[in-house]
Amino acid sequence: MDVVALTHAHQDHLGGLTAVFENFRVGKLWIGREVSTAALTQLEDLAREKKIPIEHEVRGKKFSRDGAEGEFLWPESSRGETAPSAKNDDSLVLRLRYGNQSLLLAGDAEKESERATLAESDANELRADVLKIGHHGSKNSTMPEFLAAVQPRIGIISSGEGNPYGHPSPELLERLEKAGVRIYRTDFDGAVHVLTDGTRLKISCFVACPEAGRTASSVQSTEQPKQLQHKKEK
Ligand SMILES: [Zn+2]
Repeated sequence: MDVVALTHAHQDHLGGLTAVFENFRVGKLWIGREVSTAALTQLEDLAREKKIPIEHEVRGKKFSRDGAEGEFLWPESSRGETAPSAKNDDSLVLRLRYGNQSLLLAGDAEKESERATLAESDANELRADVLKIGHHGSKNSTMPEFLAAVQPRIGIISSGEGNPYGHPSPELLERLEKAGVRIYRTDFDGAVHVLTDGTRLKISCFVACPEAGRTASSVQSTEQPKQLQHKKEK
């Protein structure tokens, strides 16, 4: 694979990468803020051992590849300082554009980095058709101002089934519903893939995608989603 992006050095984001580096050829590793934790140091050592170049990405860095353009919106450069621990607001926030379709990948960003990103961005710099919702759908992410700037048609929430944090929060789901966002979530739909030819978006899910996405009211239902029951019966 071309690139692996580590949004930030928390275990739920970094933990699986050892297996990825051991089993796949990885072109390079993108990391946002450097932190001096044992887990990140170990992962970087493994990357060096596997000759995987490490690049630290910060706000303002851009790239283009085969007609697709990417821009990092966060984190701000730490000017060489290394924090002793990882924070959600260290997350890499990346906007990708191909043709007239755009995606905003927010990692575990929460309101602090959202606010700073908003303050430093032009209005249309944040607009995206698809928003990977920040921090597993916690109520402190995807705040109203941020949502209003991004104006996503589709929101993808990464959350574990029955997770102890209560992600995604009903409050956030309500915000998304009010904004008319179609929701896909990994606890119901499995891995969610987004493909685009620059004009249209094609969304596919590991478990069958709900028709035309979910509305927040349908995902707030506590009943087991039908697709998941179907899968378990197999
Ligand atoms: Zn996380």
